[in-house]
Amino acid sequence: MSPPKFADFSRIVFFTGAGLSSESGIPTYRGSGGIWKEYNYEDYACQRAFERDPEKVWDFHDKRRAAVAACEPNDGHRLIAVIQRAKPGTTIITQNIDGLHARAGGVDVIELHGSLWRVRCDRERTIRDDTSVPMASRKCTCGAYLRPDIVWFEDALSVDNLRRAERALERADLIVSIGTSGVVYPAADLPRIAVQAGAVSVEINLEDTPVSNLYQHRLRGKASDLLKSMA
Ligand code: NAD
Repeated sequence: MSPPKFADFSRIVFFTGAGLSSESGIPTYRGSGGIWKEYNYEDYACQRAFERDPEKVWDFHDKRRAAVAACEPNDGHRLIAVIQRAKPGTTIITQNIDGLHARAGGVDVIELHGSLWRVRCDRERTIRDDTSVPMASRKCTCGAYLRPDIVWFEDALSVDNLRRAERALERADLIVSIGTSGVVYPAADLPRIAVQAGAVSVEINLEDTPVSNLYQHRLRGKASDLLKSMA
């Protein structure tokens, strides 16, 4: 079965994971080079760790910001942005926190797991962009520690983001899942909404995943190459 072509669809949803950014040099979560082999998330990436030792958590996130800032969007990110410009009904839903979709020109990206490039003050309930590396100030003007606006382990996803994602998926005519292992919930379940609503479905990955059976087209190889094969 040859892969579907973007030209035949108008309401495309790209659902992306760490595999899409691996070609930019950002390690995936699972697999070789995955950061959670090196760092224990309970010490660096959960609310409890932040409350215990915010400086330690910020040192870790400053390292991540420096590593990601040194990377560039790849052809996959760029092609997705080109398609979004050509087809305004396109939605980008990502589990990535690296901001590479936006740097490639993607707009209104639904960042299910937050962003390395936003910080929030939980005391004042404010959120703002901050792309300084290292962070210019780890504290809000109110004196409280800012925290990365990332969905850490054990955090809940934003209800607003989930609703936006669900709305896009319900009306999609093509769902393309790219570089995600499909094991992080509730995100992993979202593409099912589009499939159940009748969208043509494509999974792009180096290998099979626990959710591969959901997809009509299972394309195996590098994300950027396979996206080009659909253009
Ligand atoms: P994951 O690490 O669990 O899985 C990555 C998947 O991508 C694997 O199935 C792998 O086979 C596939 N893959 C790797 N390179 C690929 C390539 N070049 N082309 C196609 N497929 C490729 O990632 P996940 O499912 O996104 O879940 C991990 C969680 O950690 C998510 O929340 C994720 O966003 C977060 N995370 C984010 C980043 C980032 O922002 N870039 C990096 C690591 C982890």
